[in-house]
Amino acid sequence: PKAAKLDFIREIIANDLATGKHATTITRFPPEPNGYLHIGHAKSICLNFGIAGENAATGAKCHLRFDDTNPEKEETEYVESIKADVKWLGFDWGDDLYYASNYFQFFYDSAVHLIKEGLAYVDQQSLEEMKQSRGNVNVPGTPSPYRDRSVEENLDLFEKMKAGEFKEGECVLRAKIDMSSSNMNLRDPVLYRILHAAHHNTGSDWHIYPMYDYAHPLEDALEHITHSLCTLEFENHRPLYDWVIDHCPVPSKPRQIEFARLNLTYTVMSKRKLLQLVQEKHVSGWNDPRLPTISGIRRRGYPAEAVRHFCKRVGITKFNGTTDVALLEFDVRDFLNTSAPRRMAVLDPVKVAIENWPAGEQELLEVSNHPQDPEMGVREVSLTGDVWIEREDFMEDPPKKFYRLGPDRYVRLRGGPIIKCTGFEKDADGKVTLIKAEYLPGTTGADAPEGVQCRAAIHWVDVATGADAEVRLYDRLFSVEDPDDAEGGFLTVLNPDSLEVVTAKVESSLAEVGAGFRCQFERVGYFVADSADHKPGATAVFNRTVALKDSWSK
Ligand code: ATP
Ligand code: MG
Ligand code: MG
Repeated sequence: PKAAKLDFIREIIANDLATGKHATTITRFPPEPNGYLHIGHAKSICLNFGIAGENAATGAKCHLRFDDTNPEKEETEYVESIKADVKWLGFDWGDDLYYASNYFQFFYDSAVHLIKEGLAYVDQQSLEEMKQSRGNVNVPGTPSPYRDRSVEENLDLFEKMKAGEFKEGECVLRAKIDMSSSNMNLRDPVLYRILHAAHHNTGSDWHIYPMYDYAHPLEDALEHITHSLCTLEFENHRPLYDWVIDHCPVPSKPRQIEFARLNLTYTVMSKRKLLQLVQEKHVSGWNDPRLPTISGIRRRGYPAEAVRHFCKRVGITKFNGTTDVALLEFDVRDFLNTSAPRRMAVLDPVKVAIENWPAGEQELLEVSNHPQDPEMGVREVSLTGDVWIEREDFMEDPPKKFYRLGPDRYVRLRGGPIIKCTGFEKDADGKVTLIKAEYLPGTTGADAPEGVQCRAAIHWVDVATGADAEVRLYDRLFSVEDPDDAEGGFLTVLNPDSLEVVTAKVESSLAEVGAGFRCQFERVGYFVADSADHKPGATAVFNRTVALKDSWSK
């Protein structure tokens, strides 16, 4: 058999292992704990943990590292949610849980090292002056008047920065690289800034905090990361990454490789925008089932397997693009089609009175849990006469091709007998309030008798034993493909119909299932018992995971 073609990162890795450059791989997933993870992060998680899994025989590992070097936006709530999300996706960091904030002393010592080598200096220009003197792609920068101060003076000032003797913005530590480099990131980038902010891990120990471009390579090197995988925006930061590795006293030399980030249609993925949706209550929280957050899609009922499969199918490339969310929904539907048992629920109920049903008689029907998978077995569904059916399964005056219920027409109750409509009642507004029917004894599990035209089976719920359920019909949160591009801003293109709540009739077993139970409501879609609000035996609440068919594609 032909081996599947490797993506370019796995090819580099296979080559590094083959040539003996590395004996094994250590990758890392390095979220900043300043928000909840989203489906884009899932791509990075699947890549980094996936590589460790594939190379497990060589002792490969993947670290979970909290990149918590910025004290201002980080919270422990986020740390906990990130751990839960990585686990839910099916990955395990074992003992390899790290916090970048534990390396603050090393970052500091490395900065002192750079100063001593004449490669860093304390700049006391204002932010505005610094911006001006950096120039632009066409104009070389002008050196800071502080660029050539002595090592001793730099050491003394940096020590004072650390001790909290300066105000925020009064000075920064900069690398001394090249003020006329064509790569703006190399024009004496800032390594440290002053922040008098408490940090969730180190409290008020520090008054200076390292910049991402300086700290990240050092974190990777300290952890002996072999391949540091990041998104394409960092491609032109790589020369700085390498500069830091080359000039600091590091124990290993990691290699940064960039790949295209995941973008999805009909949603936004920047943490800032997700936070805004949450804070301004456009959604119910970070785990709102309409959000692309991992906790949102979990609550929506997306199986982790489907998300992993999707990430694999999207693949790893160097080309930025936007993936159609229908592809993700396809994987979810595909996975649930084989794995989700069938149940019956009526979302828009109208009552059918079966007038020839013997009063007080209950029949327990054995209904298949999955028509294509006998291994899923059967369940008992009660029939005691009157049933709820879907309003759209009845027509007062149906056309010929309508095979469901209408006056004098026959239809099968799924798993039960054939019924014939004998009449109906309407209210003053012309709305059908009751359908009258007779059942045909002996037709459960048997073909229609001679002369009876029955071409369809519809789902139904027993009136006497069925339960009420709140059903949340979720749809896409935005009504346009690219909300980030909306003229009036992404909030102006929120889909006003992204949530519809109905009270449905459900078969009695559904009131008893545990939160997180997934099934197909036959002929309707895939649903999950809500993890927050569904209480078995008390309150039934179901979320629509995905409809049976894609209603958005043209
Ligand atoms: P921000 O909104 O602050 O830019 P971020 O998305 O960069 O947040 P991080 O916590 O820094 O969030 O990301 C952790 C890791 O996940 C990084 O390695 C980052 O490259 C990766 N990542 C983030 N978004 C995506 C995405 N859309 N596709 C693939 N990888 C992503
Ligand atoms: Mg970030
Ligand atoms: Mg980012």
